[in-house]
Amino acid sequence: MTGPADCLFCRIVAGDVPAQVVHESEHAVAFRDLNPQAPLHVLVVPRRHVDNAAAVSRDDAEITADMLITARRVAEAEGVAESGYRLVFNVGDDGGNTVGHLHLHVLGGRRLGWPPG
Ligand code: AMP
Ligand code: ZN
Repeated sequence: MTGPADCLFCRIVAGDVPAQVVHESEHAVAFRDLNPQAPLHVLVVPRRHVDNAAAVSRDDAEITADMLITARRVAEAEGVAESGYRLVFNVGDDGGNTVGHLHLHVLGGRRLGWPPG
C-alpha cells in the first residue's frame, strides 16, 4: 500500500478503484474528475500519498514538478493549451478541499470566472 489504506486517491493510484486515467508519469497519475466543473476537469495526483498542498515539503520538489509537467501534458493532449486553463489546489474547509490526498485540478474548455465562487 502506498498510503493510508482508506485513502480514495491512493486506491485509484493502486488500481483498486476505477478511474478514467488520461496520463501517467513517474510520480503522478491524471484521471477525469467524477463531477466535472468544466468541459475539461482532470485531477493530477502524486503516486505517493501527500495530505494536501500545505503538507508539501522540499523533499517533494521532484514530485510536485512532475505534477505540473503532467498537468501541462494533459492540457496539450486535451486541446486547451492554446485557449488556456486553470490549475487549482484546494486547501482546508474554506478552500473546498474534500479528499485528503494532494491533487491538482486541471480545468478548461470554457471561459472560467474570476474570482472563483
Ligand atoms: P477537492 O474538493 O479539491 O478535494 O477535490 C476533490 C475532487 O475529487 C472533486 O472534484 C470530486 O468530484 C473528485 N472525486 C471524488 N471522488 C472521485 C473519484 N472516485 N474519481 C474521480 N474524481 C473524484
Ligand atoms: Zn492517498
